[in-house]
Amino acid sequence: MITNKTLKLSIKSLREFAKKRLPDEVLIDLDAKDECPIEIVRHMCSPDKLGIQLLFIPEEFGGMGGGTFDVYCICEEMARIDLGVATSVLATFLGSDPITVGATPEQKKLWLTRIAEEGVLFAYGATEPEAGSDLGALRTTADPVVQDGRTVGYKITGNKQWISNGGVADVYTILANTPSGPSWFVVEKGAKGFTHDKPEDKHGIRLSNTAALALDNVYVDADRLLGGVEGQGLIQAQAVFGYTRLMVAAFGLGGGWAALDRAIPYSTKRIQAGAPLSEKQGYTHKLIVPNVARLEAARSYIEETALRIDAGEGSLNTEGAIAKYMATEAGNLAADASIQALGGYGYTHEYMVEKIKRDVRITTIYEGTSEIMEMTIARDCWQLHLKTRGQHYHDQAKKLEALHATHPHVGADIAALALHAVAETMEKARIARMTRHQHILLRLGELIAYAECAGSLARRAALMADNKLTEKANRRFDETALAAISRIFAREAALKAGTEGARWSIGAGGVSNNELPALETSLRLPAIHQAQAGLISDMDYVADVLYGRAAKHAEQAA
Ligand SMILES: Cc1cc2nc3c(=O)[nH]c(=O)nc-3n(C[C@H](O)[C@H](O)[C@H](O)COP(=O)(O)OP(=O)(O)OC[C@H]3O[C@@H](n4cnc5c(N)ncnc54)[C@H](O)[C@@H]3O)c2cc1C
Repeated sequence: MITNKTLKLSIKSLREFAKKRLPDEVLIDLDAKDECPIEIVRHMCSPDKLGIQLLFIPEEFGGMGGGTFDVYCICEEMARIDLGVATSVLATFLGSDPITVGATPEQKKLWLTRIAEEGVLFAYGATEPEAGSDLGALRTTADPVVQDGRTVGYKITGNKQWISNGGVADVYTILANTPSGPSWFVVEKGAKGFTHDKPEDKHGIRLSNTAALALDNVYVDADRLLGGVEGQGLIQAQAVFGYTRLMVAAFGLGGGWAALDRAIPYSTKRIQAGAPLSEKQGYTHKLIVPNVARLEAARSYIEETALRIDAGEGSLNTEGAIAKYMATEAGNLAADASIQALGGYGYTHEYMVEKIKRDVRITTIYEGTSEIMEMTIARDCWQLHLKTRGQHYHDQAKKLEALHATHPHVGADIAALALHAVAETMEKARIARMTRHQHILLRLGELIAYAECAGSLARRAALMADNKLTEKANRRFDETALAAISRIFAREAALKAGTEGARWSIGAGGVSNNELPALETSLRLPAIHQAQAGLISDMDYVADVLYGRAAKHAEQAA
């Protein structure tokens, strides 16, 4: 684990480096030229320069042994600079993950030490032209080469699609089918029969290199099979999903905040109808404040999950999916709203929010699309619902009601309403067998994610109030502001869980007309509507905080 001081120093160096080497004009130019600044990526990964990759390599292999929380902080910071460059750096994190979880001690020593000492760049080769969300459809094969009855190597043949760093990496981890099932192999650039296509002409993250790979009977020695046992590939990939999805979640968070942090200062200077836009409630309360609330709800969930992974609670794949889904969707909404917030200027290249919006778009696609996240969340949480006979989310809600008793201002009571509504909708879905409709299953995933994040943000606001937030946690907002943000988000989550719970239950034919009043009662719709009281004054307060007017307000009140 690295100390808070070291983490802050790493973030500071990253910021200083970006200020010098990647100012806006350079980013706009590289984006227009569709060019990956490979020397900058190498500088960032070089151990005697920025050495970002040292952070995630264990100390025994020459790294700094950073934990999940540390890597989330760095990923958010990189995303705030440029999501293309961030993707290129992350490709080494991702590419080496199958090694970190599945390799033999000798393989770990060889490859992780090379990353730490030589700054070698990795690419992660899972996706294929016919196998995207469904990796089970994998067609690349690794045929054993047998001599004297012993497997001495493999011949790999197939195609990989959309591989980040595909044209620039030194080393590739490639998923291929062996006779015993999917397995990871390490393939070095320049291997005979191994080629890459030209870089893809992409919508966004144009500073990252993405290329298709072709493997034509590429021979690797048997010691390039990670872990030395065939058929472990999908298990190894799964083992790090919680962690890797958190990193992409951090990208969504960083991208969303990068856009808002341009819209907020812009609106203080842009005068329309005699006053700055920042003073127009119809502007701040639509384009800025709700996006801040969604991003901070997602942050809360990311931080909670990162702490739990670092505490050894397992890979937390479902939690990673919730974090990725919420943060990347929130990042996209925030970037889109930021274009609107800058009006015509936002629609031009010069003001950057347009680029950020194109860049952040990828985060709901790679490392598992939003729809796959919804499915993962719903399926996993469905099991919890069944195992607890429908009590899982009621129990979580009760814990939040207890939190409300000690911390009445953090929105825990409203988050509890969201969770009760989710529990009731899931039960309705079970009785009426509504999840035979795939759409209902995925919508449940969305409602669960919102309700879980509302609970998490309420807990975070309470920890902040008790001065118990972890040392490395983000502290952009103080206790009062975080509580107001939590109440705003909890109201949105509760309204969504309640009204959409009703919508889909009725829409899927799970409720007859005479059952409607009972449905509304079970979903606690009157209480959810009542909980909207105070919303505008909370939004006013958060806008004041964002625009530095809160202190003035407090003085006036005094
Ligand atoms: C810029 C970029 C960089 C990338 N980098 C890498 C990398 O480094 N390494 C790597 O291995 N991969 C990489 N990928 C691939 C990425 O992970 C995949 O694109 C992603 O997993 C989706 O797969 P797909 O594109 O085949 O879409 P598909 O799986 O065909 O999905 C298309 C649409 O259908 C939906 N869908 C899919 N299945 C279902 C279902 N069962 N039910 C309902 N809806 C469904 C999806 O949500 C999506 O909206 C990258 C992709 C891009 C664009």
